[in-house]
Amino acid sequence: MSVKKRIDELKTLLNDYNYEYYVMDNPSVSDVEYDQLMNELLKLEEEHPELKTPDSPTQRVGGEVSSKFEKVEHVRPMLSLGNVFSEEEIRSFDKRIKKVVKDYSYTVELKIDGLSVSIIYEDGYFKRAATRGNSVVGEDITENVKTIKSVPLKIEIKDKLEVRGEIFISKNNFNQLNKVRQEKSEELFKNPRNAAAGTMRQLDSKVVHQRRLDAYIYYGFHDDFKNHYETLMTLKSFGFKVNEKTTYCKNIDCVIDFINEIEKIKHDLPYEIDGIVIKVNELKYYDEIGYTSKFPKWATAFKFPTEEKETILNNIEFQVGRTGVIKPVAHLEPVDISGSSVSRATLHNEDFIKSRDIRVNDHVIVRKAGEIIPEVVSVMTEKRTGKEKVFEMIEVCPVCNSVIIRKDGEADYYCVNPTCDAKHLEGMIHFASREAYNIDGLGEAIITDLYNDNLLGDIADIFKLQEKKEILVNKERMGEKSVENLLSAIENSKSNNLDKLIFGLGIRHVGQKASKTLAKNFRTMNQLMDATKEELSDIRDIGEAIANSVIEYFHNEDNLSLIKEIKSLGLNTKYQDSSVNKDTVFTNKTVVLTGSLEDFSRKEAKKIVEDMGGTVTSSVSKNTDFVLAGDAPGSKYDKAKDLGIDLLTEKQFKDMIDLGE
Ligand code: NAD
Repeated sequence: MSVKKRIDELKTLLNDYNYEYYVMDNPSVSDVEYDQLMNELLKLEEEHPELKTPDSPTQRVGGEVSSKFEKVEHVRPMLSLGNVFSEEEIRSFDKRIKKVVKDYSYTVELKIDGLSVSIIYEDGYFKRAATRGNSVVGEDITENVKTIKSVPLKIEIKDKLEVRGEIFISKNNFNQLNKVRQEKSEELFKNPRNAAAGTMRQLDSKVVHQRRLDAYIYYGFHDDFKNHYETLMTLKSFGFKVNEKTTYCKNIDCVIDFINEIEKIKHDLPYEIDGIVIKVNELKYYDEIGYTSKFPKWATAFKFPTEEKETILNNIEFQVGRTGVIKPVAHLEPVDISGSSVSRATLHNEDFIKSRDIRVNDHVIVRKAGEIIPEVVSVMTEKRTGKEKVFEMIEVCPVCNSVIIRKDGEADYYCVNPTCDAKHLEGMIHFASREAYNIDGLGEAIITDLYNDNLLGDIADIFKLQEKKEILVNKERMGEKSVENLLSAIENSKSNNLDKLIFGLGIRHVGQKASKTLAKNFRTMNQLMDATKEELSDIRDIGEAIANSVIEYFHNEDNLSLIKEIKSLGLNTKYQDSSVNKDTVFTNKTVVLTGSLEDFSRKEAKKIVEDMGGTVTSSVSKNTDFVLAGDAPGSKYDKAKDLGIDLLTEKQFKDMIDLGE
């Protein structure tokens, strides 16, 4: 694969993961896997600077701004933090500082795993709170933050003050929250960070109040503050909650000692941490040491290595996913990793198992990467006794017994039987889930129950449940009220936007972000179904794998009849722009495009303007509001200049889209 292709692929993947993590609060890969891909992209871009583009995930702070909340422009950008992973890297960080300044010291803090917040105080009162968003613009979450009891609503000083901190949920409250969700058959939050971030994006602050979030403050901006440690102690005296482990360090050895101490007790802390933040203490050096576009160079985050433990592999089982993919899963002798008991781990695929010669009864090393799925990393062959069983891949689907196949160039096996029970069941669970069609009350347990009772067979059946109301009401544990709620949630979901439907169908490789891109570009299900491979691949962010998979999906007779059926059941199959009704920088504005743009085709730029409520015309007149001028602009540029019309560079246009979306 060419370097350019790999870079494009990494960008698409990371953008998708960012979307799942920051917008949906529901990551599908571990932080370690994400960090590895990000590091690979950083390395490739460093080796091939000509392939580095401004929209690369390496160049931007990951979050996005949801249109559900008012937008807030930050007084100063809310940047992310660079990462270091070993003592050696910590010492290199220190050396880089030493090259620029002398007589400096550090403050070390716990890196609480939550989401950052900026809070502004004016005249001594809590005025406004915002999320980090894309670092320049965040979401106004004032009402939600007011429900956090440890955030003071009134402070002693009257000057304008901005503080920043981390909103988080304690391990106890997180477990409690998930317990209740499980009882209600609702999807569980993957980890405390996602729970805190998801909660802060609730529109109903009563719900936020119930979830009992908390916040530690770790920055304060005021002219009187001279060094970071004192800033934090002053904020503490104002009534802010500052983490009690925060420590002043004269030098980098002290920083390393601190990290070693925390490593020993991190699982006993009542909240989740994912590292230690190291900050230069003297504020006067900050500008001199400087910033990258993503993070300050005077601070960094040490991330704890992922924990690995030895255990015994008791068995290998196979699970069938909604796409028919067959995944081997290891059943382990339970072992405590990162504070929780692990008894199952992913084995990825046949090649993974064979290349490591993983056998049943082996002593294996298991790693829990982030909070997601644990994995078997390696085998301790020296502990073999002869009782181990060499792995053999199964030949038929463990659920429906039909032959399974492995396509050329792929690592996974698939069950291709379109009527396989597992595929239908998993497909429906995915379809109804929060990120997809989001049908309240239709969680995994209920779907499985209805499926076992033959009340549900495929996605279309969900929308025919209305006809089976009587049977449902008479089912054990359902009752009239809950059936009514369920049926009305199903009915209401029919007006969901097209991207949710596309994602819900579970087309291979088509994640949430790609679904949105496809919906925005093709506007209707019919047009998407008619799209050619070239039309699909022409779209930015849609790579070959996605294009192939979309084509394949819409060539399958069963899929076509499913779509026909769901259309006849009244599901919305058109894309509705949410931004059109909102005020954006282009609402009711007329824009003319001239010259060639580096990162957008004409068609793409036009669509963006239209999606944001503007109109694109071909000639410049006094009614034109903006002229977007790319490389080698033509006479339109001169005319716009003569008429005094606002000329936009591509960079300005990009900033405006970021601000406007
Ligand atoms: P980050 O979480 O690595 O570090 C920056 C953040 O640390 C700040 O924004 C702030 O919220 C927080 N923080 C906590 N304590 C702090 C303190 N004492 N001082 C200053 N800041 C403190 O960076 P990020 O940009 O929020 O996220 C990037 C990371 O998120 C990645 O490295 C990856 O691990 C994870 N991620 C994972 C996925 C996924 O799909 N699994 C996707 C995107 C990002």
